[in-house]
Amino acid sequence: MTAETHEPFLLTPGPLTTSATTKQAMLRDWGSRDAAFIQINRDVRNRLVELAGGGDAFTCVPVQGSGTFAVEAMIATFLPRDGKLLILINGAYGHRIAKICDYLGRDYVIYETTEDTPPDPSEVDSMLANDVSISHVAVIHCETTSGILNPVAEIAAVVARRQRRLLVDSMSAFGALEIDVAGLPCDALAASSNKCIEGAPGMGFVICHTDALVETKGNAHSLSLDLEDQWNAMEKNAQWRFTPPTHVVAAFHQALAEHADEGGIAGRGRRYRRNCEVLVSGMRALGFKPLLPDALQAPIIVTFHMPADPGFDFQIFYDRLAEKGYVIYPGKLTVADSFRIGCIGRLDEQVMRGALGAIGETLEEMGIRECGPAVA
Ligand SMILES: *Cc1c(COP(=O)(O)O)cnc(C)c1O
Repeated sequence: MTAETHEPFLLTPGPLTTSATTKQAMLRDWGSRDAAFIQINRDVRNRLVELAGGGDAFTCVPVQGSGTFAVEAMIATFLPRDGKLLILINGAYGHRIAKICDYLGRDYVIYETTEDTPPDPSEVDSMLANDVSISHVAVIHCETTSGILNPVAEIAAVVARRQRRLLVDSMSAFGALEIDVAGLPCDALAASSNKCIEGAPGMGFVICHTDALVETKGNAHSLSLDLEDQWNAMEKNAQWRFTPPTHVVAAFHQALAEHADEGGIAGRGRRYRRNCEVLVSGMRALGFKPLLPDALQAPIIVTFHMPADPGFDFQIFYDRLAEKGYVIYPGKLTVADSFRIGCIGRLDEQVMRGALGAIGETLEEMGIRECGPAVA
């Protein structure tokens, strides 16, 4: 993968490095009513339901915009105006769902744990037992703020036992980590084109339980984010209600074909896990300390503590790595000063080794010998 592009590798939470063939799929203009485009759109929706394990009971509703548009559309459509959402928060994306509810004027409560702590299913159970007005629960699959893997299946079991509805933000996990929407179960799961499927940014999608979606008619506050209306229109004539992001859909279709060629979720997940192992062991060898223990680390993005050495200036470190062709990402943790390195996108273990080599060189240039965090 090293020779494919001279652009820098994006070791970030997205947008990500994509294949040359996925980029090439965008070099054509499609009419939105073109029969071939309509077929591409139908294929994309069917493949996504299949990847989610949705079977006949689920449908896929795409929506224009970044991933947040899909999450907002999911909350706006599925949470009734008199509903109440329990939001499990351990990072920025959980907080974003609370902010969405503030904008929508929907009632919610939060259960917040620190960024390095997954929600405890038994705590969720007692919150649901003690507040019968909670109708829905929202959980983040991989909280990209830290890279932590949240126990979605265990949470789903509790929510189902208490007869409430589950909404999943699987943005940074979908396509790399197994998920079975029918088995969980959940009412809806949101993700986007530009994360683990390795497409171009510009569209999100929500995998919806079709019967639950039918019940949502009239819930949404917004025409453009009304998934039920988008779905109804798309079922009728296979077209998007409003201008489709045609190039993004075409690239996503190509990216999905490449995902299948790699062995689907199992193959994609294997490459990312290998990327993550190479990265974490190499960074440990350089003296860096990951935030999370291996058992909580999803193979998506890794958070490292900022070195305590006063000579370590993150901006200089970042700029010099970017000059060498590797773009990393700042941290946004509240629990610790940190930065992040992504394992997702069109990257393989050679790229990760290249990044580690560049990091080693940069440390040498900066005169940093000790990369451990301050000891508390
Ligand atoms: C990337 C991401 C989103 C969406 O972010 P956008 O910037 O709107 O694409 C939502 N949730 C999680 C967990 C994410 O990783």
